[in-house]
Amino acid sequence: YERMRNRLVKTKDNFKEKIENVMYMGSFDDDFFDELEETLILSDLGAQTSVKITEALRKKIKETHSKSKEEVMGFLKEILIEMVQVEAVKPQDPTIMLVVGVNGVGKTTTIAKLASRYKSQGKKVVIAAADTFRAAAAEQLDEWAQRVGVDIVKSTTGADPGAVVFDAIGAAKARNADILLCDTAGRLHNKVNLMNELQKISRIIIREGEGFTIHNLMILDATTGQNAINQAKVFHECVDISGIILTKLDGTAKGGIAISIIDEMQIPIEYVGIGEKSEDLIDFDPKKFVDLLFE
Ligand code: GDP
Repeated sequence: YERMRNRLVKTKDNFKEKIENVMYMGSFDDDFFDELEETLILSDLGAQTSVKITEALRKKIKETHSKSKEEVMGFLKEILIEMVQVEAVKPQDPTIMLVVGVNGVGKTTTIAKLASRYKSQGKKVVIAAADTFRAAAAEQLDEWAQRVGVDIVKSTTGADPGAVVFDAIGAAKARNADILLCDTAGRLHNKVNLMNELQKISRIIIREGEGFTIHNLMILDATTGQNAINQAKVFHECVDISGIILTKLDGTAKGGIAISIIDEMQIPIEYVGIGEKSEDLIDFDPKKFVDLLFE
């Protein structure tokens, strides 16, 4: 978590400084709660989540009659910790991971990071390059696969992504793979196409992937703030998202979005991206994340 602490510095400083300013307003009256709600929204926690937090704190202060800044700060931290406790399920291998997300969020990089991580754990990994829409996507993924040293199944640009996934499942079975990582296209501007394509791939995975655990992972970019939640909602309508990876948490002050994502989606964040290298993916521990914000 040392690395996380260093890379999270912008979010951390931004959050703590703003919250402390509100705490130093003096009394815990309506003005305080309005200001707190505003501050939480400005820290990318979203309106819905910010209202929920503010109301929970209001209730707690009323119950305890607390007038101490330190104590109230502690209550706030407890509320946030409770909010982010959405248990992640660790899928039993062999696993097929369908990786979805809008272009540019870091999908390719994250697949490479996952491949590298699982490989270093001694697992056999196969990648399916099923974003057949962007010519560069398969090439980029292929480069990563070579670098990380894992197998990749790809096809020509414009090919049917479902067919690539079908072939990749066959390859994963034949090679006794532990993990099959499926890349997908992320064209959000055409929601109907996106939905059709993802649902078709998902059906193929369910039909062909007998004996595999299926895990649908959504990649979200922390720097996009509240937009990330909208994306998550659209994709969750297409396929049942079981885990989230939040990228680019390094160098952004918008990391508070992590809390809002968990609260609104009730889906766990499993990993976070804190850089561009293959080792820059770390396990997400929600409690530690909140602890860091208050450090
Ligand atoms: P894709 O279009 O979703 O496949 O996105 P890419 O994987 O190509 O990533 C887009 C850009 O974001 C690239 O320049 C990546 O190096 C960068 N990127 C991905 N993940 C992270 C991260 O966790 N931190 C930072 N700083 N950059 C990242």
